[in-house]
Amino acid sequence: MVTPALFNRYNSAEAFAEAEPAELELLIQSTGFYRNKAKNIIGAGQVLVRDFDGDVPDNMDDLLTLPGVARKTANVILGTWFEKNEGFVVDTHIGRLAHRFDLTWSSRDTKDAVKIERDLMEVFPQDRWTDVGHMFILHGRAICNARKPLCDQCTLTELCPSAFEHDKKTNAKAGKKKKAKRKKVSKRNKRAT
Ligand code: SF4
Repeated sequence: MVTPALFNRYNSAEAFAEAEPAELELLIQSTGFYRNKAKNIIGAGQVLVRDFDGDVPDNMDDLLTLPGVARKTANVILGTWFEKNEGFVVDTHIGRLAHRFDLTWSSRDTKDAVKIERDLMEVFPQDRWTDVGHMFILHGRAICNARKPLCDQCTLTELCPSAFEHDKKTNAKAGKKKKAKRKKVSKRNKRAT
């Protein structure tokens, strides 16, 4: 976890605004894309100091002026810190689960965050948007993985239209491969006789 050491070293917007990129990069290196992230964190610190007296704003429009902050991050801050349900966080887990649960009808794929967010906001009552988002993320990390959802350990199989679909597809693929291999072997054997 990077945050204990990070917040130990920098504990205010001013401190982030004045951070040395190389030092900050070292502290967040394990999170990936750390050069870009360090640039955005320093930039966000500078905007917070310049425009908001060093405080994090509590509304979508102002949050979106911070470098590196788009709707997903703004929704996390508003929902989790300020307890304001202004939107639905859509990250990679929520995008995937929205499709597996058939909770999105206007998005084409799991990356279409804007449309997925709009659909989820219609499906769930506004006062549950943040809680449900957190539950989706935890469920996506622990059980409903991208590569191999653990349907046999999932408590939602009766509600989920995609339950065991992944296994069926994988088995069908394996079956096709086996069939093709059998055909190849029998052809080779025929030629040999
Ligand atoms: S049943 Fe399977 S696909 Fe559906 S939510 Fe559970 S793990 Fe995911």
